[in-house]
Amino acid sequence: MDIAADRIVTIHYTLKDDDGAVLDSSAGADPLTYIQGHGNLVAGLEKALEGRQSGNTLTVVVAPAEGYGTRDQALVQRVPKRTLQGAGDIKKGMQFQARTEDGMRLFTVTAVAGDMVTLDGNHPLADQTLHFDIEVVDVREATAEELEHGHVHGPGGHHH
Ligand code: ZN
Repeated sequence: MDIAADRIVTIHYTLKDDDGAVLDSSAGADPLTYIQGHGNLVAGLEKALEGRQSGNTLTVVVAPAEGYGTRDQALVQRVPKRTLQGAGDIKKGMQFQARTEDGMRLFTVTAVAGDMVTLDGNHPLADQTLHFDIEVVDVREATAEELEHGHVHGPGGHHH
């Protein structure tokens, strides 16, 4: 069965940077299961998987524009500590969800100086070219219930 919109796809993946360093991988763990065509993967990877079949292996190179985006300096902000509600002891590397004009966004604390905290709303992999090694494990039709809920049920998905 071909990978196409609204089908349930299971893949093993390894993500590397330009230098070949592994950033993330499902090797040795459960594969990733997602619904094709719903923006669950970065755009460039989802596009490359379209039409592939179970058993296929492929290498996909994704430019930042179709990956995690290009860095936007406007997303780097200095705010007083007190504006971070209930954050307790704020340390470099902590992450916060915050509402922005474009919806919810994840911010990472990149510096703490006195009462001021520097927050970076760029994705940690912004500006990076992504190198994926993919093995398509399974492709199946979604159930009506899965499409209604917008997520996968059963192995690799929700149990409820
Ligand atoms: Zn559900």
